[in-house]
Amino acid sequence: MTKALYVHVPFCDKICAYCDFVRVLSHPLLIKDYLSALKSELETYPLVQYETIYIGGGTPSALSVEELTVLCEILAPISKSVIEYTMEVNPESLTLDKVMVMKKYGINRVSLGVQTFDEHELKLLHRSHHKEDILKAMDLLIPNGITNISIDLIYGLPLQTLASFEHSIHEAFKCPITHLSLYSLTIEPNSEFGRQKVKKVSDEMEELMYFKAIELFKGYGFHQYEISNFTHHLPSRHNMTYWHYNDYIGIGPGAVSLYQNQRIENTKNLMEYFKGHYHSDVLNLSNEDQRYEFLMMGLRVKEGISLQTFENRFKESINVHYGESIDKLIKKGWLEIENDHLKATESGYPLLNTVLGELLDETTCN
Ligand code: SF4
Repeated sequence: MTKALYVHVPFCDKICAYCDFVRVLSHPLLIKDYLSALKSELETYPLVQYETIYIGGGTPSALSVEELTVLCEILAPISKSVIEYTMEVNPESLTLDKVMVMKKYGINRVSLGVQTFDEHELKLLHRSHHKEDILKAMDLLIPNGITNISIDLIYGLPLQTLASFEHSIHEAFKCPITHLSLYSLTIEPNSEFGRQKVKKVSDEMEELMYFKAIELFKGYGFHQYEISNFTHHLPSRHNMTYWHYNDYIGIGPGAVSLYQNQRIENTKNLMEYFKGHYHSDVLNLSNEDQRYEFLMMGLRVKEGISLQTFENRFKESINVHYGESIDKLIKKGWLEIENDHLKATESGYPLLNTVLGELLDETTCN
């Protein structure tokens, strides 16, 4: 049974310089049509109770109190037994009234789009918030009982130094966070950075920043449980569904679902979405696709993949298709098997793309 639901809210108050997500500037009429289409799309799926719901974007907190209430009402019939209910929030758009709505409907986790605590870097990214907004958002959430707070940090920005990045990390840990996601900047061709041909920091600096972050996080008691994610004890239950390659449903423009052996991609075109043409692509996943994607997602997680789960799911041992490559990668010291789990070693983890490339080679040869 599908236990995870992703809801994409494609509205933002301002467009960030690096952004290539599915988003448009907020407008009340567009939001009204969106909410009505979203309700209809949700009704195309069976009415089940989800264990995790993740409202992402875009900027869900850019919705007004009334719009947010409508969204939560749409989701109310399927969120009665939700365990982890996350909403992405941009610090500048959070208000006490919105926190009250979130609380009322059971939202118990917030992913706060912080990116950096450095004012110059925030400006460069065209983010709308300042450092004080981040602290204010924490002060609105924590006393009102939303204490499971994740923040995003970004590294590799043009002109970012190791010192400014370290400063952001220390500032982050002054906040009562439970989880942290770390991303390197990607210059997307369709973003403002891409159009301006902005250059990020060198590969060497980027690597230095990544390893420095891991070291500092460790000092604060945060361990890496996934390639980009860190926590002391509260991994993202919702994202675990993706990494464990279990079914999930994504609704809203640009959302993706893994559902009944299909990958369903929703249209990114708002007007098409409003007309009820929700899906732009439906791909039937072969057994081979699923085996490889199971590995690709599972190896991102530090604990790796359960060999027993692989066997139960695909009715054959992992060695049938990947035995040779796995042996080679174990000999190279990049993979290991521990407690019936296949996982990347400390030295293999940063080379995950190469490891996956070698596994893919064997699949395509079989
Ligand atoms: S980065 Fe986030 S907040 Fe900024 S424009 Fe993109 S979706 Fe909106």
